[in-house]
Amino acid sequence: MEKRKYYQQAIETMPVEEIKRLQSEKLVKQVKHVYEHVPYYRDLMDKKGVKPEDIHGIEDLHKLPFIEKSDLRETYPYGMLAVPLSECVRIQSTSGTTGRRVIAYYTQKDIDLWEDCCARALVAVGADKDDVVQVSYGYGLFTGGAGLNGGSHKVGSLTLPMSSGNTERQLQFMIDLGATVLCCTPSYAAYLGESLKEMGYTPDKIPLKAGIFGAEPWTQEMRRDIEATLGIKAYDIYGLTEISGPGVSYECSEQNGMHICEDHFLAEIINPETGEPLPEGEKGELVFTCLDKEAFPLLRYRTRDICVLTRKPCSCGRTHIRMAKPMGRSDDMMIIRGVNVFPSQIESVLITEGFTSNYEIRLGRVNNSDTFDVYVELPPEQFDDSVKTITAKEKSLAAALRTMLGIGPTVHLVPPKTIARSEGKAKRVIDERKLHD
Ligand code: ADP
Ligand code: ZN
Repeated sequence: MEKRKYYQQAIETMPVEEIKRLQSEKLVKQVKHVYEHVPYYRDLMDKKGVKPEDIHGIEDLHKLPFIEKSDLRETYPYGMLAVPLSECVRIQSTSGTTGRRVIAYYTQKDIDLWEDCCARALVAVGADKDDVVQVSYGYGLFTGGAGLNGGSHKVGSLTLPMSSGNTERQLQFMIDLGATVLCCTPSYAAYLGESLKEMGYTPDKIPLKAGIFGAEPWTQEMRRDIEATLGIKAYDIYGLTEISGPGVSYECSEQNGMHICEDHFLAEIINPETGEPLPEGEKGELVFTCLDKEAFPLLRYRTRDICVLTRKPCSCGRTHIRMAKPMGRSDDMMIIRGVNVFPSQIESVLITEGFTSNYEIRLGRVNNSDTFDVYVELPPEQFDDSVKTITAKEKSLAAALRTMLGIGPTVHLVPPKTIARSEGKAKRVIDERKLHD
């Protein structure tokens, strides 16, 4: 039997004009639903002087007020609820990377559409009934495990609900049960690859063929690294708890940007300073409006993720708009001696220079000036190099980083395995400057 290419073909390949019409129809209804049921958002709209009758379609989207993370903290826990709580069947929560956790609530229909999105992502990387999908994202409040688990069931794949952690058992099951698709954070995928090598396995000895990695930023360099160590194709998946979870967008066989599930989520790019919508192709902050969600239907939610959208046709046949890999969220951006630096820029230099994604950035302050140190693991085969050689390598890596960032860190090459591995989202920045303020 020929493999299916899409999970919901009619929707995934719908002509763009039709998608826009559908979005307009849904938007009008959704704004009314929210206005009638969420007093907090009604107040925001009233303050802006906009009524549901002013929204005739997506061309009026810009008239609506934004929702920000601070609004969600203010309305915690149930202030954004748009249906009776008795209609809700699930709570999930953010991983709390940037402060107090935000909770999200779902009706059964909300769960269904979220799992459909994850199923689209799985089919897009070639998963079907014959596949064994190992879900090594954390299960529990975090959306990673639940989302891909549900998606895998919908596709009909055999699902291995591993959750994260217990790396040896992960690898044993992967081999014994013949996992063909791995879902986890990219940092955990890199760790699994490293551990597999240590156990003496070469990539051709494992049946894995694809991986769906997301929930944190990762670079193209890291993708190539993971593809080589695991012998797979590595695909990106994006999502956030506030909008549903993983699967808001996902990569197809082209591995060139993630298709946003546009029938459910209306995307915009805005100038993060002024809030003005930007034309397609310009870099800015990603904003989402939930078109179908019932319980927690955020309108114009500011993600703080920085990226670019494109409508260029994709050879996979999907018509949904694509977003580039977010280079990090505006919260991840470090300002070091006045220069803007993203961890992803550092990661791409390290891997290009032959190091791994095991690194740590430490920021401090001495005499009112920022200190900037990057700790990087030496590849095992270079561990025995002379002090002189290692010092020379530190210097040359520092120079490569300076060229990329416009500001030079002090590089410390440390023995293999001395930087903590991550089973979920990696924490790579330790900023101690605030302690000295
Ligand atoms: P938290 O905000 O606590 O981390 P979530 O677990 O919901 O909560 O994470 C959502 C965020 O994770 C996104 O807003 C984005 O910053 C990041 N993220 C998710 N997937 C990706 C991806 N594929 N690439 C880069 N960043 C991602
Ligand atoms: Zn595509």
